[in-house]
Amino acid sequence: MEFTAEQRQAFAARALQRQLERVSGATASASASAPIPQATEPDARCRFDTMPKYQQVALMRQMGQAFQVESPFFRVHEGMAGATTQIAGQTYLNYANYNYLGLASDPLVCERAHAALEQYGTSASASRMVAGERPVQRELEQALAAFYETADCVTLVSGHATNVTVIGALFGPGDLIVHDALAHNSIVQGAQLSGARRLSFAHNDWQALDALLHRVRGEYQRVLIAIEGLYSMDGDLPDLARFVEVKQRHAAFLLVDEAHSLGVLGATGRGLRELAQVPASAVDIWMGTLSKTLAGCGGFIAGSQPLIDILRHLAPGFLYSVGLAPVLAAASLAALERLQAEPQRVVTLRQRSQQFLHEARAAGLDTGTSAGYAVVPVLTGSSLKAAQWANALFEEGINVQPVFYPAVEEKAARLRFFICATHEPQQISQTVAALARLARGA
Ligand code: PMP
Repeated sequence: MEFTAEQRQAFAARALQRQLERVSGATASASASAPIPQATEPDARCRFDTMPKYQQVALMRQMGQAFQVESPFFRVHEGMAGATTQIAGQTYLNYANYNYLGLASDPLVCERAHAALEQYGTSASASRMVAGERPVQRELEQALAAFYETADCVTLVSGHATNVTVIGALFGPGDLIVHDALAHNSIVQGAQLSGARRLSFAHNDWQALDALLHRVRGEYQRVLIAIEGLYSMDGDLPDLARFVEVKQRHAAFLLVDEAHSLGVLGATGRGLRELAQVPASAVDIWMGTLSKTLAGCGGFIAGSQPLIDILRHLAPGFLYSVGLAPVLAAASLAALERLQAEPQRVVTLRQRSQQFLHEARAAGLDTGTSAGYAVVPVLTGSSLKAAQWANALFEEGINVQPVFYPAVEEKAARLRFFICATHEPQQISQTVAALARLARGA
């Protein structure tokens, strides 16, 4: 049975309400601290504060009050954020961003961005098709195509919008989109936009996908399988070779979202295919973001010429949206070159991540299914504990984001550590020691 987005929002709000009642001991409702208007008021249909989404936000705030924890969100960072960051004049160890190889503050990357800024100004100011291109936009696309060993590549101004518009544009009614149960929101949104049937399979379970396609493949024209190179909630990865077999067996397209795997997986950071020793041509759509390893902002698709031709001419998020700012294209191009010139950064990232994972496990912490590549969750057992641990660590000078219900199941609430090549071994040991103390209740 499928629920509408509205129904899901209402369920989430109700579940939050129940949680709030549990933690605050309240039996009636949370309305004492901040009344939530009911949808029965006469003008309810044209008020934002009667929308289920607003009620969800209000409940989240109330949970924070009930837990007596300060919100860890929207903190203001005062400088370049990498392995460390400045917040309110204090230096913190930082595990809350995706600057995996430290390239977003790299002097050479900044220099190239400066040069592009001088030459082209701050914005591309209109769609590339209408207003024309800047050489650096195509240079980045050609470099990414070479990196992914594909015929061509196209860049868009947001990673999230890339999945939405590309999946939305390529597929439609009569098609099927099957995605991993933990696929990123942008993949789900793209599938919904497309009007194709959308189904999911158990996380990383290629056998479940195979069985599903055996049952339903015949009912659809085109089928897209969407997976990720490295899952950012759990830090685990799919068996790419198996997924390729399945997609071949069922005549489906395969999209791999490399947001967290580019620059992270494989001996030289070429992503999941390098780690899995699978040829680039086995995957139909390589998707990635410029905002993580590549030190910029935007998304890209690398693939065959017909695929890129369709997207450059007909994907609404490319055609009707501004071109990637040349300054950001220059930064990402420089970062991609740095990554290739200095594969040692990838090795260091792997060593630091493995160190975190091994020390955390040795301390008895629950790291779930993390494979120890840049993303290591530490499961706390409850949203309350996740919030309390995040606060306690912040007081000790460690900035890490908690993940609460309903983003994950209540018992899977966690702290999510994003590790960078620029973290020092001693900083990692210090962090794990602080976590171990919290876990012991000391
Ligand atoms: N795909 C995945 C798997 C992601 O994790 C993210 C963002 N974290 C995106 C796409 C969207 O990328 P961006 O933040 O660059 O828009």
